[in-house]
Amino acid sequence: MRQAKLAAAAILAAGLIVSASAQAQQYPTRPVSVVVPFAAGGPTDTVARNIADAMGKALPGANFIVENLGGAGGTIGVGKVARATPDGYTLLIHHIGMSTAPALYRKLQFDPLKDFEYIGLINEVPMTFLAKEGFPVGTMKELVPYLKANAAKVSLANAGIGSASHLCGLLFMSAIQTELTTVPYKGTAPAITDLLGGQVDLLCDQTTNTMQHIKAGKVKALGITTPKRLDMLKELPTLAESGLTGFNVSVWHAMYAPKGTPKPVVDRLVAGLQQSLKNPDLIKRFADLGTEPVSADKATPEALQKFLTAEINKWSPVIKKAGIYAD
Ligand code: ASP
Repeated sequence: MRQAKLAAAAILAAGLIVSASAQAQQYPTRPVSVVVPFAAGGPTDTVARNIADAMGKALPGANFIVENLGGAGGTIGVGKVARATPDGYTLLIHHIGMSTAPALYRKLQFDPLKDFEYIGLINEVPMTFLAKEGFPVGTMKELVPYLKANAAKVSLANAGIGSASHLCGLLFMSAIQTELTTVPYKGTAPAITDLLGGQVDLLCDQTTNTMQHIKAGKVKALGITTPKRLDMLKELPTLAESGLTGFNVSVWHAMYAPKGTPKPVVDRLVAGLQQSLKNPDLIKRFADLGTEPVSADKATPEALQKFLTAEINKWSPVIKKAGIYAD
Protein backbone atom coordinates (compact mmCIF):
# COMPACT_ATOMS: atom_id res chain seq x y z
CA MET A 1 0.00 0.00 0.00
CA ARG A 2 2.79 2.38 1.05
CA GLN A 3 4.72 1.51 -2.08
CA ALA A 4 1.69 2.20 -4.22
CA LYS A 5 1.33 5.65 -2.62
CA LEU A 6 5.00 6.42 -3.20
CA ALA A 7 4.74 5.34 -6.81
CA ALA A 8 1.64 7.53 -7.28
CA ALA A 9 3.49 10.51 -5.73
CA ALA A 10 6.48 9.90 -8.02
CA ILE A 11 4.21 9.78 -11.07
CA LEU A 12 2.47 12.98 -9.95
CA ALA A 13 5.83 14.75 -9.38
CA ALA A 14 7.12 13.60 -12.76
CA GLY A 15 3.88 14.82 -14.34
CA LEU A 16 4.26 18.22 -12.71
CA ILE A 17 7.87 18.52 -13.90
CA VAL A 18 6.89 17.52 -17.43
CA SER A 19 4.00 19.98 -17.46
CA ALA A 20 6.16 22.80 -16.00
CA SER A 21 8.79 22.22 -18.66
CA ALA A 22 6.13 21.89 -21.37
CA GLN A 23 4.66 25.21 -20.18
CA ALA A 24 8.12 26.76 -20.25
CA GLN A 25 8.63 25.52 -23.80
CA GLN A 26 5.43 27.22 -24.87
CA TYR A 27 6.32 30.37 -22.90
CA PRO A 28 5.16 33.02 -23.39
CA THR A 29 1.50 32.36 -24.10
CA ARG A 30 0.34 35.85 -23.10
CA PRO A 31 1.87 39.35 -23.06
CA VAL A 32 4.94 39.84 -20.88
CA SER A 33 5.23 43.05 -18.89
CA VAL A 34 8.72 44.58 -18.94
CA VAL A 35 8.94 47.09 -16.11
CA VAL A 36 11.16 50.14 -16.66
CA PRO A 37 11.57 51.99 -13.35
CA PHE A 38 11.73 55.42 -15.05
CA ALA A 39 9.48 57.64 -17.15
CA ALA A 40 8.65 56.83 -20.78
CA GLY A 41 10.85 58.37 -23.45
CA GLY A 42 14.05 58.36 -21.35
CA PRO A 43 17.22 56.37 -21.93
CA THR A 44 16.33 53.24 -19.95
CA ASP A 45 12.94 53.23 -21.62
CA THR A 46 14.55 53.63 -25.06
CA VAL A 47 16.84 50.65 -24.47
CA ALA A 48 13.92 48.59 -23.09
CA ARG A 49 11.61 49.35 -26.02
CA ASN A 50 14.29 48.35 -28.52
CA ILE A 51 14.93 45.13 -26.61
CA ALA A 52 11.19 44.38 -26.20
CA ASP A 53 10.77 44.76 -29.94
CA ALA A 54 13.74 42.51 -30.77
CA MET A 55 12.70 39.90 -28.14
CA GLY A 56 9.26 39.72 -29.78
CA LYS A 57 11.01 38.76 -33.03
CA ALA A 58 13.47 36.40 -31.33
CA LEU A 59 10.71 34.43 -29.55
CA PRO A 60 7.99 34.01 -32.19
CA GLY A 61 4.50 34.84 -30.97
CA ALA A 62 5.82 36.69 -27.91
CA ASN A 63 4.66 40.17 -27.03
CA PHE A 64 6.84 42.17 -24.61
CA ILE A 65 5.10 45.30 -23.34
CA VAL A 66 7.06 48.04 -21.58
CA GLU A 67 5.46 49.40 -18.40
CA ASN A 68 6.93 52.62 -16.96
CA LEU A 69 6.96 52.81 -13.17
CA GLY A 70 9.13 55.79 -12.29
CA GLY A 71 9.78 57.35 -8.89
CA ALA A 72 12.26 57.24 -5.99
CA GLY A 73 15.27 56.89 -8.30
CA GLY A 74 13.87 53.71 -9.85
CA THR A 75 13.38 51.84 -6.57
CA ILE A 76 9.55 51.77 -6.78
CA GLY A 77 9.50 49.85 -10.07
CA VAL A 78 12.28 47.49 -8.99
CA GLY A 79 10.42 46.71 -5.73
CA LYS A 80 7.30 45.86 -7.70
CA VAL A 81 9.17 43.33 -9.85
CA ALA A 82 10.85 41.83 -6.76
CA ARG A 83 7.38 41.09 -5.35
CA ALA A 84 5.74 39.98 -8.62
CA THR A 85 4.65 36.38 -9.30
CA PRO A 86 7.74 34.60 -10.61
CA ASP A 87 6.14 33.14 -13.71
CA GLY A 88 8.05 34.94 -16.47
CA TYR A 89 5.25 37.42 -17.13
CA THR A 90 6.84 40.29 -15.19
CA LEU A 91 10.42 41.26 -16.05
CA LEU A 92 12.63 44.23 -15.28
CA ILE A 93 15.03 46.28 -17.38
CA HIS A 94 17.08 48.55 -15.18
CA HIS A 95 20.47 50.25 -15.13
CA ILE A 96 23.47 50.89 -12.88
CA GLY A 97 20.99 52.01 -10.17
CA MET A 98 20.60 48.34 -9.22
CA SER A 99 24.14 48.56 -7.81
CA THR A 100 23.98 52.04 -6.24
CA ALA A 101 20.60 51.75 -4.47
CA PRO A 102 21.80 49.44 -1.65
CA ALA A 103 24.28 52.06 -0.42
CA LEU A 104 21.96 55.02 -1.02
CA TYR A 105 18.78 53.74 0.65
CA ARG A 106 18.54 52.93 4.33
CA LYS A 107 15.26 51.08 3.80
CA LEU A 108 15.27 49.36 0.45
CA GLN A 109 12.26 47.23 -0.52
CA PHE A 110 14.39 44.68 -2.38
CA ASP A 111 17.79 43.02 -2.34
CA PRO A 112 19.53 43.10 -5.74
CA LEU A 113 21.54 40.01 -4.83
CA LYS A 114 18.68 37.89 -3.44
CA ASP A 115 15.36 38.85 -5.03
CA PHE A 116 16.03 38.28 -8.72
CA GLU A 117 16.85 35.76 -11.37
CA TYR A 118 19.40 37.26 -13.72
CA ILE A 119 18.82 37.17 -17.47
CA GLY A 120 21.81 39.14 -18.77
CA LEU A 121 23.54 42.42 -19.48
CA ILE A 122 22.31 44.45 -22.45
CA ASN A 123 24.65 47.39 -23.12
CA GLU A 124 26.88 50.06 -21.64
CA VAL A 125 26.39 53.71 -22.48
CA PRO A 126 28.39 56.85 -21.67
CA MET A 127 26.86 59.91 -20.01
CA THR A 128 27.16 63.46 -21.24
CA PHE A 129 27.21 66.51 -19.00
CA LEU A 130 24.91 69.17 -20.44
CA ALA A 131 23.89 72.77 -19.85
CA LYS A 132 20.76 74.43 -21.20
CA GLU A 133 21.17 76.33 -24.47
CA GLY A 134 21.16 79.82 -22.94
CA PHE A 135 23.56 78.96 -20.08
CA PRO A 136 26.21 81.70 -19.58
CA VAL A 137 29.24 79.39 -20.11
CA GLY A 138 29.89 76.75 -22.75
CA THR A 139 32.89 74.67 -21.66
CA MET A 140 33.72 72.62 -18.58
CA LYS A 141 36.79 74.76 -17.94
CA GLU A 142 34.59 77.87 -17.68
CA LEU A 143 31.79 76.04 -15.87
CA VAL A 144 33.75 75.13 -12.75
CA PRO A 145 34.74 78.69 -11.71
CA TYR A 146 31.27 79.90 -12.74
CA LEU A 147 29.61 77.37 -10.42
CA LYS A 148 31.92 78.18 -7.54
CA ALA A 149 30.83 81.82 -7.81
CA ASN A 150 27.13 81.19 -8.58
CA ALA A 151 26.25 77.84 -6.94
CA ALA A 152 23.06 79.15 -5.32
CA LYS A 153 21.62 80.16 -8.69
CA VAL A 154 22.26 76.93 -10.58
CA SER A 155 20.04 73.84 -10.68
CA LEU A 156 21.12 70.30 -11.57
CA ALA A 157 18.39 67.86 -12.67
CA ASN A 158 18.39 64.13 -11.92
CA ALA A 159 16.08 61.12 -11.96
CA GLY A 160 15.97 60.78 -8.16
CA ILE A 161 18.28 59.28 -5.57
CA GLY A 162 19.81 56.11 -6.95
CA SER A 163 19.56 57.11 -10.59
CA ALA A 164 22.54 57.37 -12.90
CA SER A 165 22.10 61.13 -13.27
CA HIS A 166 22.10 61.40 -9.48
CA LEU A 167 25.33 59.40 -9.22
CA CYS A 168 26.94 61.54 -11.93
CA GLY A 169 25.82 64.70 -10.12
CA LEU A 170 27.27 63.42 -6.83
CA LEU A 171 30.62 62.70 -8.45
CA PHE A 172 30.57 66.09 -10.14
CA MET A 173 29.76 68.08 -7.00
CA SER A 174 32.39 66.15 -5.08
CA ALA A 175 35.00 66.76 -7.84
CA ILE A 176 34.38 70.53 -7.83
CA GLN A 177 33.72 70.70 -4.05
CA THR A 178 30.53 72.70 -4.61
CA GLU A 179 26.90 71.91 -3.69
CA LEU A 180 24.23 72.72 -6.27
CA THR A 181 20.46 72.65 -5.97
CA THR A 182 19.32 69.29 -7.33
CA VAL A 183 15.90 68.79 -8.91
CA PRO A 184 14.55 65.19 -9.00
CA TYR A 185 12.29 63.88 -11.77
CA LYS A 186 10.71 60.45 -12.42
CA GLY A 187 13.23 59.83 -15.16
CA THR A 188 15.46 61.90 -17.40
CA ALA A 189 12.84 62.19 -20.17
CA PRO A 190 10.95 64.88 -18.19
CA ALA A 191 14.30 66.27 -16.96
CA ILE A 192 15.58 66.86 -20.48
CA THR A 193 12.25 68.40 -21.48
CA ASP A 194 12.80 70.98 -18.73
CA LEU A 195 16.45 71.46 -19.74
CA LEU A 196 15.30 72.16 -23.31
CA GLY A 197 12.65 74.52 -21.94
CA GLY A 198 15.22 76.32 -19.78
CA GLN A 199 13.56 75.46 -16.43
CA VAL A 200 16.68 73.64 -15.16
CA ASP A 201 20.30 74.49 -15.91
CA LEU A 202 22.36 71.28 -15.92
CA LEU A 203 21.84 67.55 -16.48
CA CYS A 204 24.14 64.55 -16.76
CA ASP A 205 22.48 61.81 -18.79
CA GLN A 206 23.04 58.86 -21.08
CA THR A 207 23.79 59.53 -24.76
CA THR A 208 20.70 57.40 -25.50
CA ASN A 209 18.70 60.45 -24.40
CA THR A 210 21.03 63.30 -25.20
CA MET A 211 22.65 62.54 -28.56
CA GLN A 212 19.79 63.90 -30.70
CA HIS A 213 19.70 67.18 -28.75
CA ILE A 214 23.49 67.59 -28.85
CA LYS A 215 23.55 66.96 -32.61
CA ALA A 216 20.67 69.43 -33.11
CA GLY A 217 22.54 72.09 -31.08
CA LYS A 218 19.65 72.39 -28.61
CA VAL A 219 21.86 71.94 -25.53
CA LYS A 220 25.48 72.69 -24.62
CA ALA A 221 27.52 69.48 -24.22
CA LEU A 222 30.33 70.09 -21.72
CA GLY A 223 31.91 66.68 -21.20
CA ILE A 224 31.67 62.92 -21.35
CA THR A 225 31.93 60.60 -18.33
CA THR A 226 34.02 57.80 -19.86
CA PRO A 227 37.84 57.69 -19.85
CA LYS A 228 37.95 57.92 -23.68
CA ARG A 229 36.24 60.30 -26.09
CA LEU A 230 33.31 58.93 -28.05
CA ASP A 231 33.73 58.41 -31.82
CA MET A 232 30.36 60.05 -32.50
CA LEU A 233 31.21 63.13 -30.42
CA LYS A 234 34.94 63.41 -31.10
CA GLU A 235 35.05 67.12 -30.26
CA LEU A 236 33.60 66.59 -26.76
CA PRO A 237 36.34 66.30 -24.10
CA THR A 238 36.19 63.74 -21.30
CA LEU A 239 35.58 65.15 -17.83
CA ALA A 240 39.04 63.88 -16.87
CA GLU A 241 40.58 65.97 -19.69
CA SER A 242 38.88 68.99 -18.12
CA GLY A 243 40.60 68.25 -14.82
CA LEU A 244 37.72 66.47 -13.02
CA THR A 245 38.86 63.31 -11.28
CA GLY A 246 36.89 60.24 -10.16
CA PHE A 247 34.89 59.90 -13.37
CA ASN A 248 34.65 56.57 -15.06
CA VAL A 249 30.91 56.11 -15.34
CA SER A 250 29.23 54.01 -17.97
CA VAL A 251 25.59 53.27 -17.44
CA TRP A 252 24.89 49.58 -17.99
CA HIS A 253 21.45 48.09 -18.54
CA ALA A 254 20.38 44.55 -17.76
CA MET A 255 17.34 42.28 -17.66
CA TYR A 256 15.99 40.51 -14.55
CA ALA A 257 13.05 38.32 -13.50
CA PRO A 258 11.68 37.83 -9.97
CA LYS A 259 13.44 35.18 -7.86
CA GLY A 260 11.89 31.75 -8.39
CA THR A 261 11.07 32.21 -12.08
CA PRO A 262 11.35 28.64 -13.47
CA LYS A 263 14.75 27.81 -14.95
CA PRO A 264 13.34 26.74 -18.35
CA VAL A 265 11.65 30.17 -18.63
CA VAL A 266 14.89 31.93 -17.65
CA ASP A 267 16.77 29.84 -20.23
CA ARG A 268 14.30 30.85 -22.90
CA LEU A 269 14.63 34.52 -21.99
CA VAL A 270 18.42 34.26 -22.06
CA ALA A 271 18.25 32.70 -25.54
CA GLY A 272 15.83 35.45 -26.64
CA LEU A 273 18.06 38.20 -25.25
CA GLN A 274 21.16 36.76 -26.88
CA GLN A 275 19.43 36.56 -30.24
CA SER A 276 18.04 40.09 -29.84
CA LEU A 277 21.49 41.53 -29.23
CA LYS A 278 22.58 40.13 -32.62
CA ASN A 279 19.60 41.68 -34.45
CA PRO A 280 21.08 44.07 -37.11
CA ASP A 281 18.22 46.59 -36.67
CA LEU A 282 18.83 46.74 -32.92
CA ILE A 283 22.61 47.11 -33.43
CA LYS A 284 21.99 50.01 -35.84
CA ARG A 285 19.49 51.73 -33.53
CA PHE A 286 21.88 51.36 -30.58
CA ALA A 287 24.79 52.75 -32.66
CA ASP A 288 22.76 55.87 -33.53
CA LEU A 289 22.29 56.42 -29.77
CA GLY A 290 26.00 56.11 -28.97
CA THR A 291 25.90 52.56 -27.58
CA GLU A 292 26.31 48.92 -28.63
CA PRO A 293 25.06 45.57 -27.34
CA VAL A 294 27.35 43.60 -25.02
CA SER A 295 29.05 40.49 -26.41
CA ALA A 296 27.17 37.17 -26.05
CA ASP A 297 29.34 36.04 -23.12
CA LYS A 298 28.01 38.99 -21.06
CA ALA A 299 24.35 38.44 -21.89
CA THR A 300 24.15 35.56 -19.41
CA PRO A 301 22.83 35.17 -15.83
CA GLU A 302 26.31 34.30 -14.51
CA ALA A 303 28.00 37.32 -16.12
CA LEU A 304 25.27 39.68 -14.86
CA GLN A 305 25.45 38.34 -11.30
CA LYS A 306 29.23 38.72 -11.28
CA PHE A 307 29.14 42.19 -12.80
CA LEU A 308 26.36 43.41 -10.47
CA THR A 309 28.30 42.20 -7.42
CA ALA A 310 31.45 43.96 -8.67
CA GLU A 311 29.50 47.19 -9.29
CA ILE A 312 27.95 47.09 -5.79
CA ASN A 313 31.46 46.68 -4.38
CA LYS A 314 32.74 49.51 -6.58
CA TRP A 315 30.05 52.11 -5.84
CA SER A 316 29.13 51.42 -2.19
CA PRO A 317 32.34 52.90 -0.70
CA VAL A 318 32.15 55.91 -3.05
CA ILE A 319 28.57 56.63 -1.98
CA LYS A 320 29.25 56.01 1.72
CA LYS A 321 32.19 58.42 1.52
CA ALA A 322 29.90 61.06 -0.02
CA GLY A 323 27.62 60.63 3.03
CA ILE A 324 24.43 60.61 0.96
CA TYR A 325 21.44 58.45 1.80
CA ALA A 326 17.66 58.35 1.46
CA ASP A 327 14.94 56.72 3.54
N1 ASP B 1 18.83 58.30 -17.23
C1 ASP B 1 18.06 58.20 -16.05
C2 ASP B 1 18.95 58.21 -14.85
O1 ASP B 1 19.42 59.25 -14.60
C3 ASP B 1 16.99 57.23 -15.95
C4 ASP B 1 16.06 57.16 -17.13
O2 ASP B 1 15.13 57.97 -17.26
O3 ASP B 1 16.28 56.26 -17.91
O4 ASP B 1 19.13 57.28 -14.15
